[in-house]
Amino acid sequence: MALLQISEPGMATIPHQRRLAAGIDLGTTNSLIATVRSGEVVTLADEQGRHLLPSVVYFKADAEPLVGDAAKAHQLTDPLNTIASVKRLMGRGQQDTMQTLAGHLPFKLAVTDSAVPRIQTSAGTVMAHEVAAEILLELKERAEVALGGELSGVVITVPAYFDDAQRQATRDAATLAGLNVYRLLNEPTAAAVAYGLDQQAEGVIAVYDLGGGTFDISILRLEKGVFEVLATGGDSALGGDDFDHAIAEYLLQAAELSTSDNPRLLREALVVARASKEQLSTANEITVQLGEWSGLLTRTQLDGLIAPLVQKTLQACRRVVRDANLAKGDIQQVVLVGGSTRVPLVRSQVADFFQTEPLCSLDPDRVVALGAALQADVLAGNKPDAEMLLLDVIPLSLGLETMGGLVEKIIDRNTTIPVSRAQEFTTFKDGQTSMSIHVLQGERDTVEHCRSLARFVLRGIPPMVAGAARIRVTFQVDADGLLSVSAQELTSGAKSSIEVKPSYGLSDREIMTILQDSVTSVQEDIAARRVREQQVEAERVLEAIDSALKNDGDQLLDHEEKMTILAAREQLAAVRQSTDPQAIEMAIKHLEQAAAFYVERRMNHSIRKAMAGHTVDEFRG
Ligand code: ADP
Ligand code: MG
Repeated sequence: MALLQISEPGMATIPHQRRLAAGIDLGTTNSLIATVRSGEVVTLADEQGRHLLPSVVYFKADAEPLVGDAAKAHQLTDPLNTIASVKRLMGRGQQDTMQTLAGHLPFKLAVTDSAVPRIQTSAGTVMAHEVAAEILLELKERAEVALGGELSGVVITVPAYFDDAQRQATRDAATLAGLNVYRLLNEPTAAAVAYGLDQQAEGVIAVYDLGGGTFDISILRLEKGVFEVLATGGDSALGGDDFDHAIAEYLLQAAELSTSDNPRLLREALVVARASKEQLSTANEITVQLGEWSGLLTRTQLDGLIAPLVQKTLQACRRVVRDANLAKGDIQQVVLVGGSTRVPLVRSQVADFFQTEPLCSLDPDRVVALGAALQADVLAGNKPDAEMLLLDVIPLSLGLETMGGLVEKIIDRNTTIPVSRAQEFTTFKDGQTSMSIHVLQGERDTVEHCRSLARFVLRGIPPMVAGAARIRVTFQVDADGLLSVSAQELTSGAKSSIEVKPSYGLSDREIMTILQDSVTSVQEDIAARRVREQQVEAERVLEAIDSALKNDGDQLLDHEEKMTILAAREQLAAVRQSTDPQAIEMAIKHLEQAAAFYVERRMNHSIRKAMAGHTVDEFRG
């Protein structure tokens, strides 16, 4: 038996210092913070023992903002200063917000000319990420009180559907709250981690997350403890809030009440609707009171009201299964996430759809925060042996504009991240010394049908003949889903790069439209591509002939020869923008034939020039 070693007092080696790390579920409706404590992952409560922090902030002039239940208390009496569902605005542009969210936002937007919408409160205007920062700050303080120290870092979850701008806005909020973000993690991925699915054998699982304001569906594949997100989909404007709206409308109608001259009544009806809905998750029928009116509401009635919304989520499920190149039968397990999966109709419909009983042993409200905390613990270095490799995917393809307004895809959608892809391009004109790089996102082949993310210019390309320069463009998407693009001319080393941070994002409706468009427009795109290619080729040929004529046309051609070539050139110039690819192709051929002898003469001429002063034998060397 080995002797026990006893060290001198004060000389004991310090045990591995654990870093305080936490996972944050920054929800549309509710937010939570969780951590790994004594080897167990737990959500942290406030001093009153409440775990869920309503994602609500109350702003009042000359006072600190209130967050959570304290803020919610003002929702009915002072709705315009009580900001809820701010996640729906994160990273969204002004116009986007007005169009997609109008009527659903119980607060006022300030009229400004800035691209980022500002919410009007009696404490001044605030932007979405500033409101989110208040929520994060509250959670940070809660954790630091509970854990007795400063957090070294956090993992914050976002819907898988969040685009670059929405992720960026989330990071900005964390920075304002003084948090160090290890990583942004997709919510469904966090849920799978919480269930320890990375520990189990291989399999394909679906994560169905229906919260208050967002719906996410993801297909994950597990292999040897590593899981990969095969595809994601959903709708960030669909959730329990929409159930509440449907129920409220029904109740107002039943009570024969009109909200047109009483906006407060709608808010009241929404509160009643939500409470009724939550009760009907366990009760079969309840008595509902709205103002003077009171009546019965049954679960069957509720099911009828929300069935179309549940159906909508199943349509998204169908799409995402197809995106993953799978059949429904390939999905072995389904994980339920989000408060709205407590609704019995949701559970039964999801079970029917996937033909399997979904996993729901963990509290669907907390599961995302728990997974984020597990991941944060690993990233903090507290589990040096843990092997957790999380792969996510990008929702839309990324590419570059090439000549003629065409888009060359560099990274296809649903590619797992982090990812880095490079492609080589070349110059279009002789002596071209700069190149403008236009980064786009979308599924279509033409620039006007994709979304512009960024533009930058690569300068300092050494002058060369068209097509000789080699420009390597690299796209890199990091683990948070943020893109950076760099370009380098390989012979000179000239370099230029940009980190793409668009100031506002795409709405999910836009993402859906982009995806649907790309399916219905394949034929159209093939035709459009052919036209554009011929148009570009025409420009190239015209460019080449003009430059040649300018150089040595008068030297090598007599008047008549020159006129013949110019006539063919004019014919091509007349159709260079035509939408008939054949017409352009023929004009190009015609010009090439008319100029063939000239090309030959130029070649001989330049060989003669190169050989001037040398003997042929020198070249045979
Ligand atoms: P989010 O992720 O959007 O923050 P949550 O996962 O916290 O949302 O879910 C909030 C939604 O869940 C709300 O619409 C709420 O009404 C609903 N919800 C919570 N509990 C229940 C319940 N018992 N029955 C039905 N819906 C519920
Ligand atoms: Mg959620």
